[in-house]
Amino acid sequence: MFEGITNALTDVLGSFRGQLTESNIRDGMGKVRNALLEADVAYDVAKAFCDRVVEEAVGEKVLKSLRPEQQIVGIVFQELVNLMGPVDHSIEVRRGETTVLMMCGLQGSGKTTTCGKLARMLKEQGAKPMLVAADLQRPAAIEQLKVIGEQIGVPVYSEDPAKSNPVQVCVNGRKAAGQQGCNLLILDTAGRLHVDDALMKELQEIDNKLMPHQCLLVCDAMTGQDAVKSAAAFNEALELDGVIFTKLDGDTRGGAVLSVKEVTGVPIKFVGMGEQLDKLEPFHADRMAQRILG
Ligand code: GDP
Repeated sequence: MFEGITNALTDVLGSFRGQLTESNIRDGMGKVRNALLEADVAYDVAKAFCDRVVEEAVGEKVLKSLRPEQQIVGIVFQELVNLMGPVDHSIEVRRGETTVLMMCGLQGSGKTTTCGKLARMLKEQGAKPMLVAADLQRPAAIEQLKVIGEQIGVPVYSEDPAKSNPVQVCVNGRKAAGQQGCNLLILDTAGRLHVDDALMKELQEIDNKLMPHQCLLVCDAMTGQDAVKSAAAFNEALELDGVIFTKLDGDTRGGAVLSVKEVTGVPIKFVGMGEQLDKLEPFHADRMAQRILG
């Protein structure tokens, strides 16, 4: 992951030595900008990022310092952190009430798997989760969630899709959670191949009725700018609290991860690092920036 960006940064930052001039720095950051664009970082984000680095790096304090190249590495690191952070990945699960997390995302993004991963993680932290199969579009989704629930020892609420609708499933799921002493409800909502009005309307109905404590979007990091575009569309319809990027274990070029916060204002809260249910990690902007710098 991030190979292209990391290589460009290593080359450019490595070429900065001793007597640095403003034009060396501008040229170098121009190369970095091209590498960011190649890695599918949004154009405005790549440009603004490199402009900020140049602006700070060409200051007298940096150029006249003993080791300007080291200071520039520090500036790049800090700007990467600013680009992706700050992040608050706390999910407050209170006793005596049902915390509701609404999970949404396009089909194939990894939403159902991520519902299971999140339930597992929060169960380990002491919550009593229940999963709700509110994806009535994809016939296999209910079965898939049941299998996941069994693997992690978490109850799954579902209804016959022919006789129910997603809002009803969620409302009844919340009742069932109360009756079974579960204090965390994770809603696995429907996905479609593309953002469309019917999908958004269905999700808005669930959102209005259930008033979830957090609404999290699951995005496939491999889909690059499409992931960012879908995040913007979902955020407009639902006011997202965070994004979870999946498939960061794959060879994604990383552009979406670098762009989403700046483009949508929505922070990345967790990242999926594999298909298995224990492969979910809280997102740390500083650790990611370190990884990008190589
Ligand atoms: P949904 O249609 O959004 O509910 O997607 P699924 O949960 O069914 O996931 C689609 C595919 O992505 C499945 O094969 C998952 O195993 C896979 N998947 C989900 N998360 C990750 C991840 O973090 N890494 C990898 N490599 N695969 C993932």
